[in-house]
Amino acid sequence: MTLKKDSLLIHGGIDGDETTGAVNVPIYQTSTYKQDGLGKTRGGWEYSRTGNPTRAALEKLIADLEEGGYGLAFASGLAAINTVLSLFKSGDKLIVSDNIYGGTFRILDNVFKNFNITYKIVDTSDLKAVEDAIDDSVKAIYIETPANPLLTVTDIEEVSKIGKKYDKLVIVDNTFLTPYLQRPLTLGADIVIHSGTKYLGGHSDTISGFVVVKDKALADRLYYLQNAIGGVLAPWDSFLIIRGIKTLGVRMDRHVANAGKIARWLSESGYVSKVYYPGLETDPGYEVQKKQADGAGAMISFVLNDKYDYKVFFEKLELVTLAESLGGVESLVCHPATMTHAAIPADIRKSVGIVDELIRLSVGIEDADDLIEDLKQAIEASAKA
Ligand SMILES: *Cc1c(COP(=O)(O)O)cnc(C)c1O
Repeated sequence: MTLKKDSLLIHGGIDGDETTGAVNVPIYQTSTYKQDGLGKTRGGWEYSRTGNPTRAALEKLIADLEEGGYGLAFASGLAAINTVLSLFKSGDKLIVSDNIYGGTFRILDNVFKNFNITYKIVDTSDLKAVEDAIDDSVKAIYIETPANPLLTVTDIEEVSKIGKKYDKLVIVDNTFLTPYLQRPLTLGADIVIHSGTKYLGGHSDTISGFVVVKDKALADRLYYLQNAIGGVLAPWDSFLIIRGIKTLGVRMDRHVANAGKIARWLSESGYVSKVYYPGLETDPGYEVQKKQADGAGAMISFVLNDKYDYKVFFEKLELVTLAESLGGVESLVCHPATMTHAAIPADIRKSVGIVDELIRLSVGIEDADDLIEDLKQAIEASAKA
């Protein structure tokens, strides 16, 4: 039978273990596999960089969830991004969203640029700007939506149409929403990327990354690169992410409900000069977000009004933790300018709106009223004299 989203989270991919009936996928902690004679493997397993049954179960699961057909698991989101960028060659160019994860900018600017694979920064929420930026050297459009950290929403379906029209790959980093809320391949994108470290794992205990595609030829190139480059996810970590994904639906429902409540409270509180959250009707991305996703996610960015000192605010929080990362059950707050986005030069940061005063909140699944109480006391304690 065809399973719906909530059942797929638990029974998608490879469900349990055929041999023993174990309800969980075993952790195949092995680097290699016995061959019964030259070229005689048992089911194609040769070496765990190339393939491992625990990782394979997770790869099938993420492919099922993204409605993709082909999934690949990596040791980190950046290992996944590195592998996708390795599809390109010297002289190729990518159009990238003007606010993206700092590490994605760093690998483009300080690693791939050295191989003459370059990028153009574009506000991809502006479809005309995307189309205008296309030229022969551009081979792909790389978007994040909602983007990190300003939650700018890009219309995946419309960008995919531009990609098709000019024969460019459309790559979407779907980390902030997960396939539970948004499935870019069904909207026409070619490649989906994830940092599984965030909501997929969900418990701030495992670093991982994913790539999912629909096209067999593209999948074959990526499997080749995955094996050639070698940034694969370990069996134990694969198990942890499978375990995390089982509760993705219930976690995301609570994450989104809490974030909606906090974003509304913040915007009505008088404490802030700006709130970025695509679930607010006043947000410029609201309509597109509603059209293409099943929820607005649980990342909120905001700027305190100038009566408050953001540095003091960070110190006064008691329940919400100051830390890099996002997507875990616990609420985390960060300062993009010096933490997640420090790799982006100050002038670029400022020009796209990542100001020094910007605060990014990853809303966890604690009681929303407790979170609001903590934010409120920390803001009030940060009032300037
Ligand atoms: C964290 C993150 C990454 C990088 O993933 P790692 O698992 O930390 O390597 C990429 N994109 C987004 C949107 C992220 O939040």
